[in-house]
Amino acid sequence: MPAAGTHDDTAEPPVVEVRRSRRRARTVSAWREGGRTIVAIPARFTRAQEREWVGRMVERLAAQERRRRPSDAQLVARATELSRRYLAGRAVPTSVRWSSNQGRRWGSCTPAEGTIRISDRVQGMPRWVLDYVLLHELAHLLQPGHGEAFWAEIASYPHTQRARGFLEGYAFARDGAEDGDVPDEPVDDDTDTPVDGLRVDGLQVDGL
Ligand SMILES: [Zn+2]
Repeated sequence: MPAAGTHDDTAEPPVVEVRRSRRRARTVSAWREGGRTIVAIPARFTRAQEREWVGRMVERLAAQERRRRPSDAQLVARATELSRRYLAGRAVPTSVRWSSNQGRRWGSCTPAEGTIRISDRVQGMPRWVLDYVLLHELAHLLQPGHGEAFWAEIASYPHTQRARGFLEGYAFARDGAEDGDVPDEPVDDDTDTPVDGLRVDGLQVDGL
């Protein structure tokens, strides 16, 4: 696996990588990893089954992303609502956009310009996780660092710990022990941890 942060979305075409697993008997899974789509299948699958299930899972993943992926406009609307509800409307970004160029970050904020970018790796995550990432970046419009004042800004958001646990778990599920040194606290500007996009999982394939 290439190191996170070195991935260049403009450099490679979309790739589907098939992983055969002897431990995988009854399920097929698919997820995004960097610019690739990974489809994990049982080792016993024939080539025909592989073709069928890769096509099915890629379509399923895309459909789920379409359902769960808010547009840039929806992102702006959500940010406005979160600022109103948790920050008394004090955080007023000039733009809020999805970005495929966030490296290891979940999101970033440029306070001088009032711009917020959210990694498209967050697309497809539960709403309360996206809300946390958005609110986190909104709060940076008010507080640049991660000191007490920063956390105080978002203290009224009820799902912070759960969302941070989700994001860490997501990164761990992908990188495992390789990435065990990821700090709990972002070191710089949200250098949290990398994450996969969406995972379609647990599909039973026996008897189909
Ligand atoms: Zn931050």
